[in-house]
Amino acid sequence: MLIFAGTQTNTQTMQILDGIQLAKEIKQEIKSHVQEQVEQGIRAPHLGAILVGENGASQTYVDNKIKDCAFVGFQSSLVRLPTSITQEALIAEIEKLNADDSLDGFIVQLPLPKHIDQEAVINAIDPEKDVDGFHPMNFGRMALEMETFLPATPYGIMEMFERYQIPTAGKHTVVIGRSRIVGRPMSILMSKNGEPGNSTVTLTHSKTKNLAEITQQADIVITALGVPGFLKADMVKDGVVIVDVGITRVDDESAPRGFKLQGDVDFENVKHKASWITPVPGGVGPMTRAMLLKNTLLAHKKNNKL
Ligand code: NAD
Repeated sequence: MLIFAGTQTNTQTMQILDGIQLAKEIKQEIKSHVQEQVEQGIRAPHLGAILVGENGASQTYVDNKIKDCAFVGFQSSLVRLPTSITQEALIAEIEKLNADDSLDGFIVQLPLPKHIDQEAVINAIDPEKDVDGFHPMNFGRMALEMETFLPATPYGIMEMFERYQIPTAGKHTVVIGRSRIVGRPMSILMSKNGEPGNSTVTLTHSKTKNLAEITQQADIVITALGVPGFLKADMVKDGVVIVDVGITRVDDESAPRGFKLQGDVDFENVKHKASWITPVPGGVGPMTRAMLLKNTLLAHKKNNKL
């Protein structure tokens, strides 16, 4: 059961798209499903992760993915490799995981050290095990509206629209940012022939001119640029739906870890114009985590011909 947090504001009744609550529900559904399968004698899904180096944020992301696996009853395996590893040695590790039948899917945590060609690494992953959905074959399948592993962040946003029943058909969706893992796949999914989807999409980026004129016409704005507080209230119209993907660590001495997480949206001012808005943290981030689990479940289903 979803709890809609309604707040009366000057111009709009703004509601929060609560990624924490939604992700909790999805994880609970997955956990129950896995329990049922295990009772029927089917082995639990198994997710692998490769972590190269000591990047703090990457370490946290991988720790969280492993915790999520434990919560839903998945098996998980972590391969830790030093920053100094060569590209060839990393690809050899990937090939080992490709060949491991006990593993349904795995991820290589990005970013990788500068001496490693990220594209070559992604291309080395067996597309059938690419639960991040980054392999060109899976990206192509997504663009052609075939079943595949969808990149977790855009997938999580689609799931959010679906479960909160936010209408997207015929709406003008403006996506800010065209990265391969967020903005571009987001634009493809929002324009797909289906629900959610059927949006008229404008994909904007750092070379876009007169961005505010474009966002002012949007029914839905999805920000994925990584510039804290970038989207201001005067850039959007009343009643807009706002999805803020941005997460930037901003120094904050009063915070226990010395930083706080900030989104791409000037939340305090934009919320007064929005009908629905995701907070940062607690919006898209938890949904991204939950979707990796859904992709792993799909890999397990295919791998075990269920
Ligand atoms: P990226 O750096 O790969 O891409 C940023 C994009 O923003 C580029 O396409 C660039 O053209 C565009 N851009 C930059 N400045 C702009 C400007 N002034 N106007 C218009 N467009 C501009 O980033 P990414 O990997 O897509 O990540 C974006 C943000 O989302 C980051 O803060 C990242 O941490 C966050 N993120 C969050 C999640 C999550 O689960 N919540 C997942 C992935 C990324």
